[in-house]
Amino acid sequence: MEKEQVKCLIIGSGPAGYTAAIYAGRANLAPVIYAGLQPGGQLTTTTDVENFPGYPQGIGGPELMEDLRKQAERFGADIRYGVATKADLSKQPYTITIDDEKEIEAQTLIIATGATAKYLGLDDEKKYAGMGVSACATCDGFFYRKKTVAVVGGGDTACEEAIYLAGLASKVYLIVRKPYLRASKVMQERVLNNEKIEVLFEHNAVGLYGEDGVEGVHLVKRLGEADEQRYDLPIDGFFLAIGHKPNSDIFKPYLDTDETGYIITESGTPRTKIPGVFAAGDVADPHYRQAITAAASGCMAAIEVERYLQSL
Ligand code: NDP
Repeated sequence: MEKEQVKCLIIGSGPAGYTAAIYAGRANLAPVIYAGLQPGGQLTTTTDVENFPGYPQGIGGPELMEDLRKQAERFGADIRYGVATKADLSKQPYTITIDDEKEIEAQTLIIATGATAKYLGLDDEKKYAGMGVSACATCDGFFYRKKTVAVVGGGDTACEEAIYLAGLASKVYLIVRKPYLRASKVMQERVLNNEKIEVLFEHNAVGLYGEDGVEGVHLVKRLGEADEQRYDLPIDGFFLAIGHKPNSDIFKPYLDTDETGYIITESGTPRTKIPGVFAAGDVADPHYRQAITAAASGCMAAIEVERYLQSL
């Protein structure tokens, strides 16, 4: 198998990966970055980004990622297409296999592989992507001011998103498949006491409809053991909050992860338990999951890489 040695390897090309590449490039570390399955990361699936500092008029998600890519390239980042398919972090240099055909031996590694929002798997979610379907209320909620939206999920994220959206929208339906919420007590109370939020227990969304965007959701309500009721509910926006899957599988044999798979780092830093291996962005962040927080942790990871290499 083809082998190559690099000083600083970055896996993932979202805000964390590119920001790490900008800092590592400027520090003369000749970073090599593998863009992964979705070059540019989750932001390439959104439309307008209005909360990334520095863009008073907002910026398109794909455009923002293109700017970050160019900025990383300007400082010498070697950006390549390819997916990390295997990892061996048992010894230095750390070996990452790309597309099962090439091995990179890295002195330092920044894992910035992100997390993937879970979808229900309906064809309509794809059909209306960017046209009323979103997996991020903080990103897209603003577009639904004084409108009617639905959030799917019964966990803390769904409750948090419903409460956030209730501050903007005129009405929020929370579509929950069970007869109860899984969220923490305090979040449940906030949701149930919010007059703009109506919880639809034992409901499943089975499709969406609308001419030029989402105009409503097809629902199935469970009525006892064998009975159900199907009906349509008019909405303008459909938000998924049924969990995220951190893209950490290949690193799990070597690094600590929480029960969902988020990589556990030393508090407030991107340091993992392996010296020279850092985790930045959503793959290590179950709490904030914002582009700006991912970018910040990418910056920290690159600074850590520089210090680690100096200490050798
Ligand atoms: P969770 O896994 O906790 O909840 C997912 C929710 O989505 C559940 O209600 C689940 O239903 C529902 N769901 C999953 N798949 C489907 C489906 N196919 N159709 C319909 N509903 C579905 O994920 P979260 O993202 O909410 O939370 C992840 C972790 O992060 C948790 O530990 C949470 O506590 C934590 N968190 C904490 C926050 C805070 O403290 N402020 C904020 C956000 C997250 P069911 O219950 O039936 O399985």
